[in-house]
This record gives sequence, structure tokens and C-alpha cells, in this order.
Amino acid sequence: MTTLDLRGRELSTAELLALVPRSTSDVGSAVDAVAAIIAEVRERGEDALLAQAERFDGVRPTSVRVPAAALASALESLDPGVRKALEVAIERVRAASAAQVPEQRITEVAPGARIVQRWQPVDRVGLYVPGGKAVYPSSVVMNVVAAQVAGVPSIALASPPQSTFGGSVHPTILAAAALLGVDEVYAMGGAGAIAALAYGVTEIGLEPVQVITGPGNLYVATAKRAVQGVVGIDSEAGPTEILIIADGSASPTLVVADLVSQAEHDELAGSVLVTDDEWLAEAVRSALPAAVSATHHHDRVATALDGPQSAIVLVDDLAQAAAFSNAYAPEHLEVHVRDAGGILPLLTNAGAIFVGDHTPVSLGDYVAGSNHVLPTGGHARFSAGLSASTFLRPQQIVEYTRDALAEVAEHVLQLSAAEQLPAHGDAVRARFPERG
Ligand code: NAD
Repeated sequence: MTTLDLRGRELSTAELLALVPRSTSDVGSAVDAVAAIIAEVRERGEDALLAQAERFDGVRPTSVRVPAAALASALESLDPGVRKALEVAIERVRAASAAQVPEQRITEVAPGARIVQRWQPVDRVGLYVPGGKAVYPSSVVMNVVAAQVAGVPSIALASPPQSTFGGSVHPTILAAAALLGVDEVYAMGGAGAIAALAYGVTEIGLEPVQVITGPGNLYVATAKRAVQGVVGIDSEAGPTEILIIADGSASPTLVVADLVSQAEHDELAGSVLVTDDEWLAEAVRSALPAAVSATHHHDRVATALDGPQSAIVLVDDLAQAAAFSNAYAPEHLEVHVRDAGGILPLLTNAGAIFVGDHTPVSLGDYVAGSNHVLPTGGHARFSAGLSASTFLRPQQIVEYTRDALAEVAEHVLQLSAAEQLPAHGDAVRARFPERG
């Protein structure tokens, strides 16, 4: 891992932004390829999805829509330990998501004049569950539970076809969907899947959705950006990242374990340590090679840790660590410091923050109760992780009585005249014919 030494340097936000370690393969690099994939799906529907499955997933599904019987049998054959783990995840994510649904509020702005603020779920959503390098039944839980808690009535789920399962969706993903009562599942992946959800595919009965959520690789993130406007999307949740802020009290063993576990997702995954303690930096650096060779996906992990998106950053103090972290805006931020309460108020930009030695990101990936679909690539500066509120729209219902309208009628007339829209004023006058 490269080292970035910021000690003794006073840096502006722009300078920090220029220094943050990030992959050069950003969404911009896949735009042309993704535009072609989307166009194919719009023009040739199911045929395009089948051809793309052969090209990118190495298998041609027998049918893009997964039959109901396959969902039921996947649930029946689910390993009991995995089933229990998914049930715990569902229960905890459901409980924490409930806090994301605001109460309806009624504001009486004057006697007889009321504004109801309600939160309306969208009618139909498309949830993407990645399945290229790893399969993510946990992402089924994160997407589906948030949508269900929001009250979304219609849910379609897409995940890449798996060559080891005859071109169907991975059975653990099917089982998780079945466990949650989702029966509309499609074996399609990448940008093609996003296009199919956004525009619909008549031949397979796939109706267009209104919002698409879920994590995915570069192609998925690029496609979500491309269809935005046709549908709503959650944040761009692309190749994953961790930033760990640690001081001299941190355990190098735990820091190394968490840097490696994040890098396991993807060659493009970013693992960044920010510390004011040179001893810790050195201890982590010297422990990494053995940890990398011992881990199952060692090649992928080594590529991710050696990439431009990963680094050890030396800072003067925790205030500078916080400034760097805010500029980076990590998807996952771990805090391993003596006084977490002291640094938390300084940390403004992060998808989710994990505090203390006993809260690793992998806990959050599965069963912490928090949602693991989080903004990457610096998007945590302006957007948030997936939540029930992603699927809700604030909607105002306005109701005035005759007397309440009469009280402000003159103001409407004045403003309609000022805007030279006299018919606006006439619409109010029409309600009071007795005034002439
Ligand atoms: P994926 O399902 O996102 O991507 C697989 C699909 O990519 C394939 O089905 C194919 O359609 C497409 N594809 C592959 N190669 C292509 C090419 N050359 N051209 C066009 N399309 C191509 O699965 P993945 O690859 O394993 O990626 C999952 C990603 O999701 C990882 O980067 C992981 O870090 C990320 N993730 C992020 C979060 C989050 O919340 N940010 C959570 C879980 C996973």
C-alpha cells in the first residue's frame, strides 16, 4: 500500500480532494459500453438479455423470469444456519428501518387552512442484487426490507444468471427472496438488468419500475446513472470502500483484518487507513503481506490494496484525520480511537460510521441492523445510504375552507397581477361570485 504523508501540511478542501486515493476506473470510463447495452435491451428486449448473459455471465438462462417453483425449492433446500442468519438480519434491519419512516403531520397554518404532510411510497421498485464475483443474499435483505418497510406494493428483483446453476439466479439469493415473500425475480445482471427494470420487457411480463436501488459493479453504477430521470435511483453504490481512522490505541490486527475484508469484494475496492500514530502505520504495513497471502481471495485483495484507491495516510492529529475523511467521504468509516465521542462531531461525510473495536464493517454487511447499501466514490458528500425513505416521497395535501380562502384571496389577486397571470386571480374570484 502506498503512503500519503500529510503531516505538517495545511491543505484546503480542494487540495485534499485532489489527494484522496481513488480508482481511475470511475463511472465515466464505462459510459459508452453501458449506453450500447441499454440500447440493445430497449430494442431487442429478452433476446438482448439472453445474449448479454452469454457474453458477460458465460451462460444462457432457460428463462429470464425465475419460475415460482425454483424460489420455493431454494427456500426448502436453504442451509438452516444461513436461514437463521438471514432471519436475524431481516429482523434487525426491519426494526432499524422503521425509524426511517416519518410520521404524517398536519399543520394548521390558519383556521380552516391545513397542510397534510404525508410520505407516499412509490408504486413499484426494481432491486438489484449483485452476483458477479460474489453473491449477496445480504443485499436481498437490505433492498427488500427497506422497500417493504416503506410500504412499496410491487417489488421486482434482478440478479445475474449463474453458470454453476444452469443460468438461474444463485439459490441463496432465491431463498432470501422467498423468505421475504418476493416472487418476481429475474436472472439478469449488469447494465442490461438496469435497463430492463427501467424500461420494462414486454415479452417476459416485466413492467417498468419507478425506482431502482441496489449495489453493483462499475457497469451497474454507470447504468443507474444513465437511466436516472426515467426512474429514480438510490445513491451510486459501486465498488466498495473503507476508511479507518485509528490512533495509537487501535489494534493493528483488527485494522489489518478490516482493510483486507473490504478488499475481498473487488479489485477496485478501496481500503484506506488514516492515522496520527507512526507505530500503528508501521505495524499495519508489516502485518499486511502475511494477512494477504493467508486470505482466500488473495490475488483480488492484493490488487485492491496495491491499487491507487488504497493507502495509508499519516496525519498530525485526529482533527486532520477528520478533515481528510470528510474530503474522501467514505462509504464505510471505522473509528478506532481512544475518544470516539470527541471525533464523531467532526465526521460529517460518510455512508455509515462504525465505532469501536467490536463493530467491524462485516457486522454491518450482514446483521448489525443498519443498511449496507451505501454511497461510494465520494457520493457520501451529498447522498445517503439506502433506507425506507429512499422509496418514500413527501407529499403535501392542501385543504382550505371557504372562509380560509376568503382570508387570503386578496393576496392571491395581488401576486397573480404581479406575475401577469390574471387567470390565476380569476380562479379565486370565481369562488366568490357575490363580490362581483
Ligand atoms: P455485479 O452483479 O454488480 O456485476 C456483474 C454483472 O456485470 C454481470 O452480470 C455483467 O452483466 C456485468 N459485466 C461484467 N463484465 C462486464 C463487461 N466487461 N462489460 C459490461 N458488463 C459487464 O457483481 P460484481 O461484479 O460482483 O460486483 C459487485 C459490486 O458491488 C462490488 O464492487 C462490490 O464492492 C459492490 N457492493 C457494493 C455495496 C455497496 O453498498 N456499495 C454492497 C455490496 C456490494
